[in-house]
Amino acid sequence: MKDINSGTICTFERMTGEAESICIVTHMKPDGDAIGSSVAMYHFLKKQGKKPRIILNDPYPSYLSFLVTEDMSDDIMTYDGKPLEACEAIKGSDLIICLDFNAFHRTDNLEVPLAEATGKKILIDHHLNPSRELFDLSFSETEISSASELLYQILIRTSQTGNDACRLGMECARALMTGMTTDTNNFANSVFPSTLHMASDLLAAGTDRDYILNRLYNQYGENRLRLMGHMMKDLMKITPDGVAYIVLDRQTMEEYGTEEGDTEGFVNMPLSIADVRMSILAKEDEDRVRISIRSKRGTSANMCARRFFNGGGHENAAGGRLHVPGDVKDMAEAGAYIERVTHIFLNDEKSC
Ligand code: 5GP
Ligand code: MN
Repeated sequence: MKDINSGTICTFERMTGEAESICIVTHMKPDGDAIGSSVAMYHFLKKQGKKPRIILNDPYPSYLSFLVTEDMSDDIMTYDGKPLEACEAIKGSDLIICLDFNAFHRTDNLEVPLAEATGKKILIDHHLNPSRELFDLSFSETEISSASELLYQILIRTSQTGNDACRLGMECARALMTGMTTDTNNFANSVFPSTLHMASDLLAAGTDRDYILNRLYNQYGENRLRLMGHMMKDLMKITPDGVAYIVLDRQTMEEYGTEEGDTEGFVNMPLSIADVRMSILAKEDEDRVRISIRSKRGTSANMCARRFFNGGGHENAAGGRLHVPGDVKDMAEAGAYIERVTHIFLNDEKSC
């Protein structure tokens, strides 16, 4: 990670200090890093005496509910439940803090209010190719584990925290540790020296990591493990190019009572096979197929997502979508599409 310039920290402190109304926005279908960084930002601002609100496009998955304490319920709003209020909150704020996404369209329905909002905007993100021109202040760093770690690096340098993680407060520290833990797949990917320093400092400050791990990884229903077995045994295909892919349709998800977040982490599993260099999970959604891509070093999930799946992300972890009908005629065509485009991608020297 490049060192964060102290001038930008001052600007961050000035902008948050001056703002009367602040909203926090993150990407659609929020994951642990999106909710972790948003909740941490919320608590930091509350400590400053502010009244921030978190505006989401979709509800957060239940495995993250431990981060959203009851006293926050009036300050967190979902487009799904209150579309008009969510848009008005964004447009009416004089400061909008955007976490864990690199372009407005990653917020789905919040894209238009974000583009129309006249309030100042701050970006804190770790994805490739950020739209910096849309923001008054950007913290964009790709050599870092997560948006939560980047936020930690900012908050720890503020005068409010004074390089003492204890002064972040327990809720803020716990949310930051959660976001970093989920985005690194529990320290398996994207771990930098700064990531371990952060973890060490947060542990020393009293963050209860056992509690976090228990909430994140030991609270699923039996159905999730049964679904995983079915996916790995019956649905996973491996192409001669070394691409493992799984197409998961809605009927199967209904059969197993699958909820949002239940398939978290499954896309990583096929990478444990020696001959697999890239893994793709295609999940049926309303008018699209949601795509998750993971790759081993030397193969770019980001390039593949950008070129063939209307998406992007990080070098070895990316996502996107296929429009139905559009990119594919129907769901049944998704497997053939994945086989065709990954063959082109992996055999085109320049692309990966
Ligand atoms: P996941 O597979 O967990 O949904 O996403 C993997 C990573 O790629 C995450 O960091 C996520 O934010 C990012 N990502 C997913 N979809 C997109 C997309 O459409 N565009 C961009 N730029 N990043 C994405
Ligand atoms: Mn992230």
